[in-house]
Amino acid sequence: MIVGLPKEIKKQEYRVALTPAGCEMIVRQGQSVVVQPGAGNGSGFADEEYVAAGAKLTTDAAEVWAQADLIVKVKEPLPEEFGFFRKEQLLFTYLHLAAAPELARSLMASEVTAIAYETIQATNGSLPLLTPMSEVAGRMAVQEGAKFLEAFQGGRGVLLGGVPGVPPAEVIIIGGGIVGTNAAKMALGLGAEVVVLEKNGDRMRYLDDVFQGRLRTLMSNPYNIAQAVKKADLLIGAVLVPGARAPRLVSEEMVKTMKKGAVIVDVAVDQGGSIATIDRATTHENPTYEKHGVIHYAVANMPGAVPRTSTLALTNVTIDYVLHLAAKGFRETVKNNAMLALGVNAYRGSITHRQVAEAVGVPY
Ligand code: NAD
Repeated sequence: MIVGLPKEIKKQEYRVALTPAGCEMIVRQGQSVVVQPGAGNGSGFADEEYVAAGAKLTTDAAEVWAQADLIVKVKEPLPEEFGFFRKEQLLFTYLHLAAAPELARSLMASEVTAIAYETIQATNGSLPLLTPMSEVAGRMAVQEGAKFLEAFQGGRGVLLGGVPGVPPAEVIIIGGGIVGTNAAKMALGLGAEVVVLEKNGDRMRYLDDVFQGRLRTLMSNPYNIAQAVKKADLLIGAVLVPGARAPRLVSEEMVKTMKKGAVIVDVAVDQGGSIATIDRATTHENPTYEKHGVIHYAVANMPGAVPRTSTLALTNVTIDYVLHLAAKGFRETVKNNAMLALGVNAYRGSITHRQVAEAVGVPY
């Protein structure tokens, strides 16, 4: 089988779906890899590194798509790429098809088999190919928050860890899942006071155990949220209700009670935002806006700012699937891997994922 690695063309997307290390693993097990020149540039991987790992460079994207049996990508194909689809071709990428009906129809018409990273699911309900991006976003939330707390960024001029004789900053995190836990780790590492508001008791017990009293957990309810938000130097929104819009847990009235120059980082902005005054997503070029004297950071694609780390984290969890698909082919791999089977979104002209089919409005 030939594995193809095109360069990502979505705006501000610098990740790449295969590193030279992954490429070498594929070649070592007997398959070939074709790489579009420049595919790894955004993540700091030069063409020569892919060639040294055994890949063949093509002239352009068209050649990668024409030669490869299995296309590995990071983001969903854009309309410019629809013309490359071929029957029997296998596509492995983040697809988010529910939000892209035109792409769904194009996959159906071309009979491409598409496996979506985001619907691969473990038996405990976790989404292993989304986890690394939440880890990145959670850790970045504190790094970005610390930066925007600086006076020259418009913040209240507070150092997260304080110094001896000066109290540390208060970091309030709403949601103690993957994002929240990683944010807590970073904030504690920098010496901040950390409070995590959760509504899942088991999750709070877990946090209490692993952090051994270094942070405080609080039941998430409107009263506790209002009290905590008032004290926050940095407020991080990190909630998720699977399959639903993020709940609006912090009202505009609560934001008005915050200290001037405090910072909100709403990581849940990609699910609609968990803070009432987060009314739009922002970009890395222009990441913040100010409302009621509080700096709002609402970048929907936070891992995009650290593409090298994000690429390594993503490919660490995708490579085993790529290796299996390349060695055994689609049918054999899916038959033996229930998690991967849940990732299949399009097969032989049909949408094969119930929620996606419902969202796109096609028969399941
Ligand atoms: P997760 O499922 O691991 O954690 C979510 C947590 O929120 C759970 O522990 C859940 O119990 C808790 N929760 C739900 N309702 C709550 C409530 N009312 N009060 C308090 N806690 C509540 O999810 P995650 O991977 O940590 O992702 C969190 C959010 O970050 C998601 O919306 C995700 O889409 C988003 N995200 C954004 C980016 C970005 O770049 N902006 C990147 C990765 C993830």
